[in-house]
Amino acid sequence: MDVKSLILFGQKSLNNITDTPRLESELLLSYVLKIEREKILASFTKDVSLADEENFKLLVKKRQSGYPFSYITNHKAFMGLDFFVREGVLIPRPETEMLVEEAIKISNGEEKYVLDIGTGTGCIILSFLYYNHKSSGLGVDVSDVAVETAKKNALQFNLSGRVNFVRRDCREITFDEEFDIVVSNPPYVKKENCKNLYFEPVNALDGGSDGFDFYPSLIEKSYKFLRKEGVLIIEIDDGMEHTIMNEMKKTGYKDIKILKDLAGFYRMAEGVK
Ligand code: GLN
Repeated sequence: MDVKSLILFGQKSLNNITDTPRLESELLLSYVLKIEREKILASFTKDVSLADEENFKLLVKKRQSGYPFSYITNHKAFMGLDFFVREGVLIPRPETEMLVEEAIKISNGEEKYVLDIGTGTGCIILSFLYYNHKSSGLGVDVSDVAVETAKKNALQFNLSGRVNFVRRDCREITFDEEFDIVVSNPPYVKKENCKNLYFEPVNALDGGSDGFDFYPSLIEKSYKFLRKEGVLIIEIDDGMEHTIMNEMKKTGYKDIKILKDLAGFYRMAEGVK
């Protein structure tokens, strides 16, 4: 088959799976052929080898089953950076970028020491450090695969000298040092909504029956980890804003802000020690 027919085949097959079937089909073919997408588009009539055709169709089938696109290609763009992702680690979400943007804003280009709790691919802390050259930090995650993945990303962005990643259960962490900023995107999906999660790690998403399991200890512990005037920035789900706000007030945070994401959902909470 030629390039054009394969792209159309992929597009048709992925119609019910994604809002962007054409784009994904093109990108999958570009991945299989190891040629940039733009170049593929310029060679529509070119014949594809049988081996590549079969490989492409196999990946289309895999994607049809709901397998995430980013797990196939091992890439996910976040904050303008190309993160390595793999099975076993949460795929960075675009709405999480607002946490990083906020951290960059409040850091004002100054040197900060940052803690990322439940770091996953390392996307939050690494993109922060990428755009704030003076800062350094620590990322913790309960998953070995996540820690390994975050380290790999640190290496590819030349940030290994400014960040450490360690495996820790966030419920058990303690530190001797104090942080200027604590960031976290904890699991907050309600348990009942986790039934349909077949591919991403459940322990990165399952926030218990009401989604709140991780917040009380996260908010309380972070208060201890922060220096005076240090800032906590956490991702939340829409509908949680009042409870999170109260929990933060109760713990002693001041200047509490709850912000919406671009889709209009409450997505971020922030407070100062
Ligand atoms: N926003 C993610 C989702 O809905 C959830 C991320 C999380 O639980 N921290 O898939």
